[in-house]
Amino acid sequence: MLRRFLANLSCVVQPATVVVVLLCGPAIAHGSGQNAMPEVWPQSCLIESADPFLLQPAGPEALGMPVPDARQDLFDVLHYGLILEVVPADTLIAGIVTIDFTARDQPVTQIVLDLKDRMTCFSVTMTSPLQSALTFVHSSDLLVIDLPEPLGPGEPGTIAVAFLGHPEPEGLFGFRIDSTPAGDLVLATVSEPWSARSWWPCKDDLTDKATFSVDIRVPEGMTAVSIGNLVAQSDNTFSWVETEPIPTYLFSLTVSNFAELVDDYQGTAGDFPLHHYLFPADAAAAELDLAVLPDMLDFCGGLFGPYPFTGQQFGMTECVWDEAMEHPTAVTWGDVLVTGDGQFETIVMHELAHMWFGDLVTPTDWTQVWLNEGFATYCEALWAEHQWGQAGLRSFMGAHNWGFGYGWDTLVKNAAISDPTYYFNPIPYNKGAWVLHMLRRWVGDADFFTILRNYLEDPTLRFANASSSDFQQHCEAVSGQDLEWFFHQWLYRNNHPVFRMGWSEVWQDGQDQVTIRLEQVQDPDPLDGNAPYKVQADIRLRGAGLDTMVTVANDQADQMYTFTMPAVVTSVDFDPDLWLLHKMDGSPYVAGTPSAPQPVRLLAAYPNPFNPRCNILWEADGPTLDVVEIFDVAGRRILKRLQSTAGPGPRDFLWDGNDGAGKPRPSGTYLYRITSSGRDAEGSSGTWLLRGKIQLVR
Ligand SMILES: [Zn+2]
Repeated sequence: MLRRFLANLSCVVQPATVVVVLLCGPAIAHGSGQNAMPEVWPQSCLIESADPFLLQPAGPEALGMPVPDARQDLFDVLHYGLILEVVPADTLIAGIVTIDFTARDQPVTQIVLDLKDRMTCFSVTMTSPLQSALTFVHSSDLLVIDLPEPLGPGEPGTIAVAFLGHPEPEGLFGFRIDSTPAGDLVLATVSEPWSARSWWPCKDDLTDKATFSVDIRVPEGMTAVSIGNLVAQSDNTFSWVETEPIPTYLFSLTVSNFAELVDDYQGTAGDFPLHHYLFPADAAAAELDLAVLPDMLDFCGGLFGPYPFTGQQFGMTECVWDEAMEHPTAVTWGDVLVTGDGQFETIVMHELAHMWFGDLVTPTDWTQVWLNEGFATYCEALWAEHQWGQAGLRSFMGAHNWGFGYGWDTLVKNAAISDPTYYFNPIPYNKGAWVLHMLRRWVGDADFFTILRNYLEDPTLRFANASSSDFQQHCEAVSGQDLEWFFHQWLYRNNHPVFRMGWSEVWQDGQDQVTIRLEQVQDPDPLDGNAPYKVQADIRLRGAGLDTMVTVANDQADQMYTFTMPAVVTSVDFDPDLWLLHKMDGSPYVAGTPSAPQPVRLLAAYPNPFNPRCNILWEADGPTLDVVEIFDVAGRRILKRLQSTAGPGPRDFLWDGNDGAGKPRPSGTYLYRITSSGRDAEGSSGTWLLRGKIQLVR
């Protein structure tokens, strides 16, 4: 019997290379999940502060990622002590920040801090080694302070900066005032990546970590939450202390009327309180959502070591938002994520994982942000595997294979781009998680989990900073392999391999000779052009009484493999367990081929043109989690909302013509985009994009 090759055979036939990989026993205990596996996985890249499709051209007009002023390299901040007064009703913050620092290896004559010009600095004094009022200039978002005499190398100093202002939201969030549905005001801050300077004076550089203490005076009846432990409370002043060094982007405040949920955790990750600050109306639902935390802490403690913030509490602090941010010890948790049904369980895991990946070991700069987001996202996958076994892992990885997105950019980001949202698009999250998944497959479970542990326990990286090459060194040290090729192709090439597969078989003398041909047909990339990727791939062969997996090494543009099987092979599946980031080029063997009908479809918005409201409509064949975004014609996002629908059928979002802060928008054309995560007809997870245009006529 002979079956023709599905692809044509005009190319040179390459010799077969077959490797057999023996996987170590899994380090992840399986199948303990109490909740059913989610039908639709929430996407952390959409839950966190990302605009996944914004890519600003890197032209001469792009300022690039902010880099510290050269004079900031001359001193090291040891501690920030803040005394703050906040008045949410007036969007006012005022205070004094006392900064303890030392001169590095050269004399220091000026202290340069970052502070946006819209904020006001009204005095700077030195309190050590001299008592002296200091002169300063505040312009171009920098505060340049003259010291009365140079500070010699290694000498300590202390200055106090008095400031006030009315900060505005900026970057991914910044400083924001909202109100809850019950009418309570909420002040929240999220400074990632470089918005700390928008509301307080600091050296806003993620490589200069410092300890913090903060006294916050708030209006009667409100509670102030910051990072670390609450060490004192008197009248309306709350005193928080963070004894571990952290970067300025992880310092935060949240002020509102909170219900507190307190529990003790004792387990693999340590012995400390769980302390959540929640809107009173949401406390009961949040308690259900967060009941899984002790199990998650045991899981993380077992894999990554004790909770890094020894002796400090951990918990969620709620604000009005549809996103989350990994502030150490007190994760800022959007109210949209409180559902009472555990829908965002993997996002809880993501934020918890950041206590190790991001808050303990922080990237050296924002081009390396996959060391935060790829790792936290892969921790979601590990949790899915822990809860729901191999099916959970496979389903999660399938849902995070955003093939339509990976062609734009490399995993290590482009420092020439100045828009902060660019650094948080799906590539560092989802492609980052996939790179770790493939690394795990390449080195095996035992080495993979040793690598993670060694990386987190490296004394030069703990409460300090790491780059991709630091991580690569740990991978090479543990595996004993030169992995330059792996990191080169997955971190610095954009896109991913695209395969075309053909196969045939011949039954002869009681055996089946199976020949499989693999071609790499991806578009050339700017770094390596047409060079093929080096990968290993599993191929499943099935026939009457036959079901076997072979693993092939593939590193050529066109490669052939032959196998002898004891029965006639009737089906061949490429990478059935999803261990390789790739797409198939028209192969009939992989679910979700381009010819499959899209399971999510746009319907006409009405009325359009509209005033005052427009119904944005779409439909889906199954449950979806949808992110609705509205942009002005200049491409600026003015609104983002998250919503989920349990079954098939139409969905709608009623837009009232206001932006995310509730301000009416002027007449004009608006663009909308729906990012819909769900399942296709074959049951494979996927994410689809819908776009439309509407006209507001006031
Ligand atoms: Zn994250």
